[in-house]
Amino acid sequence: MVELDQDQQAMKASIRNGALVLGGVGFVIVGLLAYWLLGSQGDLIRAGGGAVIGALAGFGLFRWNFTSRSKGAACAKCGSVYSISRTDRNEVFKSSENKMEREAQADGSTKVTSWVEEVYDVTETYTCSSCGDVTTKNFTTTRRKDEEERIEGPRGLGRVDGEAGQDSATGMDIEAAEPDAPPPPPTPRGGTTGRTRN
Ligand SMILES: [Zn+2]
Repeated sequence: MVELDQDQQAMKASIRNGALVLGGVGFVIVGLLAYWLLGSQGDLIRAGGGAVIGALAGFGLFRWNFTSRSKGAACAKCGSVYSISRTDRNEVFKSSENKMEREAQADGSTKVTSWVEEVYDVTETYTCSSCGDVTTKNFTTTRRKDEEERIEGPRGLGRVDGEAGQDSATGMDIEAAEPDAPPPPPTPRGGTTGRTRN
């Protein structure tokens, strides 16, 4: 058998422990059931029969569970168990997006969390140590970057002052909106209104 590395040994131990527990439960249940079913026999036969039948059932359960679960860790090509391990992991940057989350606080302020969410294409490579068969698994993963938190006070939504009402009052002269234009000379228009544009 091929020597197992740490991960493979851990995987195998985990599967075996689970199967042992199941086998132990099966041994107790089936053994007691057999002991009860052999009620008409002598004590020695009941105890011996229960132990043997329970042990057979428990071992059968252990073996069945251990084998079926090991198949998941086995190479589909050569059939070696625990022979497949991850040999490479490659991440390729796919996209990034600015995200923001606003959360109202009890005191009327707003907690604003902003971050950059990056999406990566991940390719994992699994190699069978026994036959060298290579399989890959593709999926995407996201990661938060540059996360920032700030609190917007209740008065943070201030008005935008100025600009709006500056030159619109005249309404008559377009040049008034041009900041660099010299102020137009006050031209008295017959002195009817006497109004200047300053
Ligand atoms: Zn293989």
